[in-house]
Amino acid sequence: MDLHRIFDLQYQASRAQVDVPILVRRERLLRLQKMLVESGAELSAAVQADFGVRSERWTEMLDLMLVRNMLKHTLKHLGVWSRRQRVRTPLMLQPGKAWVERQPLGVVGIIAPWNYPVQLSLAPAITALAAGNRVMLKPSELTPHTSAKMAELVARFFAPDEFCVIQGDTGVATQFSGLQFDHLLFTGSTAVGRRVAQAAAVHLTPTTLELGGKSPCILSQSCDMQEVALKIAYGKLVNAGQTCIAPDYVLLPRGQEQAFAEAFRAAVQKLYPSISGNPDYTAIISKRHLARLKQMLRQAQSLGAQVHWMHEAAAPAAEGDATSWGEAVERQLAPALVFGTTGQMQLMQEEIFGPILPVISYEHIEDVINAINASPRPLALYWFGNNETERDAVLARTVSGGVCVNDTLLHVAHDNLPFGGVGDSGWGAYHSEQGFLRFTHQKAVFVQSRWAATSLLYPPFGEKFDRVMDFMRRWF
Ligand code: NAD
Repeated sequence: MDLHRIFDLQYQASRAQVDVPILVRRERLLRLQKMLVESGAELSAAVQADFGVRSERWTEMLDLMLVRNMLKHTLKHLGVWSRRQRVRTPLMLQPGKAWVERQPLGVVGIIAPWNYPVQLSLAPAITALAAGNRVMLKPSELTPHTSAKMAELVARFFAPDEFCVIQGDTGVATQFSGLQFDHLLFTGSTAVGRRVAQAAAVHLTPTTLELGGKSPCILSQSCDMQEVALKIAYGKLVNAGQTCIAPDYVLLPRGQEQAFAEAFRAAVQKLYPSISGNPDYTAIISKRHLARLKQMLRQAQSLGAQVHWMHEAAAPAAEGDATSWGEAVERQLAPALVFGTTGQMQLMQEEIFGPILPVISYEHIEDVINAINASPRPLALYWFGNNETERDAVLARTVSGGVCVNDTLLHVAHDNLPFGGVGDSGWGAYHSEQGFLRFTHQKAVFVQSRWAATSLLYPPFGEKFDRVMDFMRRWF
């Protein structure tokens, strides 16, 4: 069905049924849950087909499990989140009463990227449906199998005026962002996010922008290098670095470069004894993306950086049927550390989004804080160490979407934490009740009492008005 026709259907339905009872919302979420239970394996296979090499276990943990957990959490809290929120009424407006009515916005548009194609499509959809909205989802054209599978499943479980998946290329995505949604959530790059925000502004459509950026990973003087290197290697190499909150670069005290390089190499080899043909190590999504990463490395080298590959030679596959992956095996880019980077290098100007980790030395933590504050605000920030004074200084004096201390990535999996960026890494957050409120209109309601005395302040003004004002000045 045509994009505009589906939008019209959803728009009309959202205006015809403004009040969406909790039972209806719950039933929609339960249908989504059933869809995931029945078809999780099909979705996982589709993701694998799109990447060429990506373990179904990664998809199970990072796409499906996260979405299932979010569904459970949302179903559990839906009643409390949806209900009328009473507020205290100030003395001067008593004995009136007031509350905040939580209403659906109407039609919510969601534009999703390719890196976690199920999670980043369905997680916002869960929250938007929970808040009583209709949802149109545009997944990425770079994961055509997953997008087609989601379109097929959603069409099987939902009416098009409830929830619908629109497939298509960036032309379709551009048209999609021009629809007069009641809210538009975009997850993707900062560059495209700017265009989406401009398109939405035409209709005054509020947006949530979940963007990317360069997330720093700071090591303090007081680190256990082996443990830290393992955690950073894990966080960086999940999905081969194609994760919005992956540590983008490491900042460590000068003099610890060698120790970190050795510990990181050992950690990488422990997690991934081989690269080429290793079913646990995800391929870069396309030849174009691979070429960009290699080009960034070449440019850095030509400007004087030193590249340390964490695997000297591509070892043969340990398990799995590498031959059936065809050219995808060639897209398994081995992890590399890069020393000696400068601000002139593309590696330090753009989000890397691959298994390449620049390592930068610092003298004082002050320099780190100043450098982070002089850069666009990151989506995530990681700090490793035991010195709580230093930790608190970094927390208090830097601004990032989220922070994870002494580990990587895990703040995104916490049900009660909002997830979102700030500045160039986006605006607005979802997950938890914050996400629910993102897709909810909080309508202020004041109910006047028949005993109200506010008419004492009506004109014509005179002695009565002055006496009441005098009383209010003294007592309120
Ligand atoms: P992208 O910006 O290229 O594309 C994202 C989506 O936008 C796709 O569905 C695409 O079809 C659509 N799109 C492309 N051009 C458009 C336009 N002109 N108007 C409207 N929509 C358009 O991003 P990507 O390559 O798919 O994903 C990688 C980026 O996403 C990285 O920067 C990463 O950090 C970011 N990301 C952020 C989060 C987060 O939660 N903050 C999560 C995952 C990825």
